[in-house]
Amino acid sequence: MFGVVPRVFWEKTNPADELNRIAIGVNPLLLKADGVNILVDTGNGDKFSEKLLKIYGIEREPTLLKSLSDADLRPEDIEIVINTHLHFDHCGGNTLVDASGKLMPTFPNARYIVQKMEWEDATRLNELTKASYLPENFIPLMQAGRIELVDGDMEVYPGVTVVHTPGHNRGHQSVKIESDGKTAFYLGDMIPTAAHVPLPYIMGYDLYPLELLEVKRRILREALEGRWLMIFEHDPKVRMGYLREGNGKLTVEEVSATE
Ligand SMILES: [Zn+2]
Repeated sequence: MFGVVPRVFWEKTNPADELNRIAIGVNPLLLKADGVNILVDTGNGDKFSEKLLKIYGIEREPTLLKSLSDADLRPEDIEIVINTHLHFDHCGGNTLVDASGKLMPTFPNARYIVQKMEWEDATRLNELTKASYLPENFIPLMQAGRIELVDGDMEVYPGVTVVHTPGHNRGHQSVKIESDGKTAFYLGDMIPTAAHVPLPYIMGYDLYPLELLEVKRRILREALEGRWLMIFEHDPKVRMGYLREGNGKLTVEEVSATE
């Protein structure tokens, strides 16, 4: 998760277990915009084999559908799903297996928004990429006519814009949310946790690290100047916060979900 950064720098804040795993959050985002419900990423879903659940140590409580139901929402109420990309931990909840054993869209009324480049890569795998993509999470959506491919930045709903942020992979997108003169930014795997804000903290499996470095530099600058609320998809503790600059260093000042 920390690429070239030596372990002594990160192990105090991110202690590894006996299998060398660290705690990672999975934080999809629900946006309520003028009564329209938009979901950003869908987590791991519930189609994993016991073996994979064990390898990754995946805990599924609360599930995405439980969290939505706590917010008084049924799967039918989601109109737009944005996938930052199609790695399994971002789109596992896109589909489910119904009572007859058939793969179905989890959100039957939603259009699912994915970058065109990401679709191309997800459907043309190689030895380096194939472990990250599980076709059951996205092929049934294409068959059901639910996928909408976009090319680059696009406002998918007034105030909600997908922003192409390549580096983790070619077709990665983040989501910019603008409302009442304020901006929030859902980073996806571009900066997965608050610990990854410093520029050299780039993951070992980011496919285009030098490109990511420049994207990070640009987005962090804009975020600092525009006082964007940064939303971290994989941070187990800090779900969101504001950037602070001091002594040439960027840090994150946490904001709790209720603020
Ligand atoms: Zn990923």
